[in-house]
Amino acid sequence: MNTRTGGLARALVRAVARGLPTRSARARYRAEFLADLAALTTGAKLRYAVGVLVALAALRTAVPPDRTPDTWPLPRAQRPFRCRVLHRHAWRQAETSDGEPYRECARCGELHPRTQTMVGSTVPWTPSIT
Ligand SMILES: [Zn+2]
Repeated sequence: MNTRTGGLARALVRAVARGLPTRSARARYRAEFLADLAALTTGAKLRYAVGVLVALAALRTAVPPDRTPDTWPLPRAQRPFRCRVLHRHAWRQAETSDGEPYRECARCGELHPRTQTMVGSTVPWTPSIT
């Protein structure tokens, strides 16, 4: 019973981790969930695993997308419905690695249409106040 419950809890948290959107998040949370399980008593393991499952939807939205040149901005087919179809982006201020500010969507990575400076551009940034 004890081994079976622990195995079920481990399988459940592994399955939950597979439901996360990025490779790095899947690896990180799988390790965290399994480490948490190892510290719990047998009875608490299954409760913890079910709690992790219940929190999956919230965790999926909280995990930021991987941001490498290959994955960011997101390809059009992977963009959230609000960005891809409704063009309702979540604009945020960002900075290039050399400190140049620009605006991008926090969900999909699209550059703001009024952004004067593209990442890697040598054109000086001129903020437009509207
Ligand atoms: Zn967007």
